[in-house]
Amino acid sequence: MAFFEMVRTALRTVLQQPVTILYPAQAAKKTPISRGHVVHDGSKCISCSICVKKCPSQAIILNKEAKTWQIDRFRCVVCNSCVDTCPTKCLSMDTQYTAPAAAKGIETFTITYVKPPKPEKKDEQKP
Ligand code: SF4
Ligand code: SF4
Repeated sequence: MAFFEMVRTALRTVLQQPVTILYPAQAAKKTPISRGHVVHDGSKCISCSICVKKCPSQAIILNKEAKTWQIDRFRCVVCNSCVDTCPTKCLSMDTQYTAPAAAKGIETFTITYVKPPKPEKKDEQKP
């Protein structure tokens, strides 16, 4: 019985259309929740570090002194957590195809605004 079941499965597989596509020659099906790679808009970033704290794979590096926001593409697991939590919506998911040769390790974006440090609290004066 197992043999006939195997033959039946093999014949069905040979006769049906492939379930995979020749991506990127053939366009992939995209939905509103499709993910691709994270894109950063430096003009909207307020350097709040929320994305850094929410990233589960420590893929984001924020350097306020250098005014840079960096993402390590090889660490990013495309979970969308940073995009969901960014308060200014300066992060988004780009679903366009990226050629493997164009994939970079760490990609750097420049930020225009840097959140000033919190003023130090004055110690209460003892009488
Ligand atoms: S990208 Fe968004 S969450 Fe990350 S530091 Fe900038 S404003 Fe904050
Ligand atoms: S998509 Fe997820 S893993 Fe990638 S940088 Fe954002 S939070 Fe980190």
